[in-house]
Amino acid sequence: MIPNPKIIFHRHWGFETVDRKMNRRLYVKTMVLPAVGLLLAGPMTGEALASSKATKASAGYVDHPAGSSKCSNCANYVKAGSMCQVVAGKVSPNGFCNFFSPAT
Ligand code: SF4
Repeated sequence: MIPNPKIIFHRHWGFETVDRKMNRRLYVKTMVLPAVGLLLAGPMTGEALASSKATKASAGYVDHPAGSSKCSNCANYVKAGSMCQVVAGKVSPNGFCNFFSPAT
């Protein structure tokens, strides 16, 4: 009997079709590799994990203004609680980051 060329034997999973093998490869590419990437990306603060905001480090946040540009005259600044719409955590009114956008 001539074996079906689409059926292969794997020592861990037994007989399987080539299509199933391709699905496993797709699963590894779409599920496992991104998870490994997140593990290697390094620790994130609890605030950054809890929200979709950028971390202060990734935003290049500093506690001092850049010339006349500072959080208190940025469109992203939320005066109540001294928060920012794009950077996680409390920010200083005199702070600055790479997401600075002048308030109109
Ligand atoms: S975007 Fe940057 S400069 Fe603007 S309020 Fe947020 S932290 Fe401050």
